[in-house]
Amino acid sequence: MKSKEKMGLQVENILHMNTGNGESSYAQNSFLQEMVIRKTLPVFEHTIKGMADLDIDVFGQCFKIADLACSSGRNTLLFARTIMDIVDEVCKEYDRKGPQFEVCLNELYGNDFNTIFGMLPNFIAKLKKEKGENFGPSFVSAVPGSFYGRLFPDQSLHLVHSSYSVHWLSQLPEGLENNKANIYMSKTSPPNVIQGYQKQFYSDFTNFLNLRSEEIVCGGRMVLTFLGRSIADPTSDDCCRLYELLAQSLLDMLEEGLVQESDINLFNLPFYTPCEDEVRNFIQNEGSFAIETLYGFQGNWDPYDTDYTNKNDLKEDSREHGKNASNAFRAVAEPLLTSHFGNSIIDVLFNKFERHVAEHLANKKTRYFNILISLTRK
Ligand code: SAH
Repeated sequence: MKSKEKMGLQVENILHMNTGNGESSYAQNSFLQEMVIRKTLPVFEHTIKGMADLDIDVFGQCFKIADLACSSGRNTLLFARTIMDIVDEVCKEYDRKGPQFEVCLNELYGNDFNTIFGMLPNFIAKLKKEKGENFGPSFVSAVPGSFYGRLFPDQSLHLVHSSYSVHWLSQLPEGLENNKANIYMSKTSPPNVIQGYQKQFYSDFTNFLNLRSEEIVCGGRMVLTFLGRSIADPTSDDCCRLYELLAQSLLDMLEEGLVQESDINLFNLPFYTPCEDEVRNFIQNEGSFAIETLYGFQGNWDPYDTDYTNKNDLKEDSREHGKNASNAFRAVAEPLLTSHFGNSIIDVLFNKFERHVAEHLANKKTRYFNILISLTRK
């Protein structure tokens, strides 16, 4: 099923979908996202210390934490383990008995929760080995559902985290019909397209904050990292260029008769990359949370490129960066593209995409811009 019918679906239904060849296709978490979570470490440390300083009863009996949009793969238990390590350190420092942990892992219904369950015995055994039999204990559970709906009982969580997810919208913005061959906001997008994206994000993000404000205890924290842009211009390179290169790859395929123009015209990416001021304003307008930290940081398109600013890349280097950047994006976007264009074009599409990305990176080291916020429930 392509075209209009499909675009009307909720994003949650197309992020995890059946590929039609008997296999399911899931968004996978990747090394790129692992780097982002690791960058959040100092904020987690600061947050946990802040909570221990306050005399809210977070460490008293059971420390309840939730990772929203945890995916399934290498990063899924990273957040939980990171928090446990920090709480352990802080408790030692403050000479306090460590808490029990309730860890809630949320993802969309179609997520591969079985893979997560399969990782748990090792996870628990490793904790016991490294921290001793008296640590915790930890109770891990899966909470399937969209974070654009209620997921937890009233005032039941101390710390909520979500990495690389709240830029995903609940649905495509309205009025994208005239976005033509663009697949996201772009320099050639008409103003109504830009406004549509902004409006949808405002509505979704406000709803997200409102729902979480019901679920988090007063004084509880929420740490979110998501894709954004460095400047107010919604068509800046750091938020749009990569998707313009993907659109270019689709146009190459159109020329070769491999995709149809009408399918390209109907395809748009269901996320939004806000700037810091928008995020700040939206949080203040919604009103339930105080902002502790809000800042942006860059991430390389090629997460494996340790010498990213090198302008004199050899051709092979650029090709390698193009491949890595393309793979990192493919890990997340493949289900979306397959659901619209079908399975058969994907390898060719990403081959073309990696070549366009390589050419771009050989001349300009455009990066992702990430926004990190740490909030306290008022
Ligand atoms: N947090 C993980 C995965 C990021 S990929 C990491 O950092 O590695 C983005 C994830 O967001 C995908 O797995 C997708 O399924 C999930 N997602 C998108 N919209 C969602 C929603 N409305 N509710 C819950 N999860 C959602």
